[in-house]
Amino acid sequence: MRKGLATELQWFAVYVCAIVFVGLSFDLGREAAIFALLSYALWLFRNLGRLEAWIADARISRPGKNQFFGIWGEMADDIKLMNQRHEKDKLRLQTVVSRVQQMTSALHDGVILADSRANIEWWNDAANTMVGLREVDLGQRITNILREPRFQHYFDAGEYREPLEIESFRNEGQRLLFQVHPFGAGERLIIVRDITRVAKLEQMRRDFVANVSHELRTPLTVVRGYVETLMSVPELNPLMQKGLEQMHEQGLRMTSLVNDLITLTKLETDDRSGQNELVDLNRLGGLIINDGRAIANLDHTLVNDIETGLSLRGNEKELRSAISNLVFNAVKYASGDTGNACTIRLSSERSGPMFHLHISDDGVGIDPKHIPRLTERFYRVDGGRSSGAGGTGLGLAIVKHVLLRHDAILRIASRPGAGSTFSCSFPIERLVVAEKNQAPSAVAP
Ligand code: ADP
Repeated sequence: MRKGLATELQWFAVYVCAIVFVGLSFDLGREAAIFALLSYALWLFRNLGRLEAWIADARISRPGKNQFFGIWGEMADDIKLMNQRHEKDKLRLQTVVSRVQQMTSALHDGVILADSRANIEWWNDAANTMVGLREVDLGQRITNILREPRFQHYFDAGEYREPLEIESFRNEGQRLLFQVHPFGAGERLIIVRDITRVAKLEQMRRDFVANVSHELRTPLTVVRGYVETLMSVPELNPLMQKGLEQMHEQGLRMTSLVNDLITLTKLETDDRSGQNELVDLNRLGGLIINDGRAIANLDHTLVNDIETGLSLRGNEKELRSAISNLVFNAVKYASGDTGNACTIRLSSERSGPMFHLHISDDGVGIDPKHIPRLTERFYRVDGGRSSGAGGTGLGLAIVKHVLLRHDAILRIASRPGAGSTFSCSFPIERLVVAEKNQAPSAVAP
């Protein structure tokens, strides 16, 4: 038992006994006991009232001097101690918060905090300079303040794996990169970076590659033309014949490389106009499967399992190039060195907010260590085989860019010996489903 309570009980016992003893000497023992209990209860209530008033004062200002005795004094001391600890913690937290705020204010990157209802809670100076926030914006929904449609879509979609790069809506010529990091109970931290310089360098790189590719095209055509003419000369000596054949082969390789580079730079620089054709997927799948059969050396089985009546909003030429790339890759690489024919399947799947087009094969598969790097330019699992099969190492980079332009992503699942599945995942809003005997209708997410 705590000391305060023990003392209180002792005082209580002494007080009651003394009153009862006095009462007994006047033959009023019962009345004296009742009086003792009532007066003690009254005293308890008085102390309770004083303690309550003292606590109420302590809420407004620091707790005053403790003028209580016994158990009340102990309780008041405890409350005072707790209050002091709380004050210390508060001060410590305030210091931490203001240090974090000072640190983030010193950052060159913009930082914006949004609460669980997407209302702006705080921002640093850099964010203010980049996107122009004012005091009155505090507590407003962020998408009502940053009114760029692509930002609104990105923020509301909640898919923050990739950052969003957009032209500044405040400073002309400035490029901004937005990255959202969810934290806590639905709060979001938005980091804004000025990437104008990097974007300019990227643009210079793209222009350089595009110019070089274009400049190479003409001399290459001339060289190939002469090689072909020379090859048709009768009675060439075998050495010359072999040399010309190799020149012809390498010329073809260089042409595909230049063409792929031009395609890539076009995909990177062109705007997204012309992305709204309705592309019938089953029909497109059928055409690609036919082309795949035509280029196959082995007796592969190519199956078109895409659901009929599905159309995708997009650019038919680009989609055809991406899906062809994936199917032709399966045709070229799925059997590896085994020489076994494989089954290559094109299929579709609707799942929640996404629509997937799968290109799968039951071939040799890909070692997991290569998968994260497959979409890098010029990355090849087996350089020799890829070049032999007419590959440039740019195929999957092209696929990735086409998909990006259709708000889609490429997922690769593969197990050595069990085959590979390349999945193109589109937002379901791009899918249009034709009811039987009716015009196509868009799918609600
Ligand atoms: P390339 O132009 O050389 O074909 P890609 O970027 O299209 O380059 O493909 C990269 C590499 O991925 C290829 O070199 C190949 O090794 C591997 N690959 C692609 N698809 C498959 C598949 N279905 N099965 C096995 N390997 C594949």
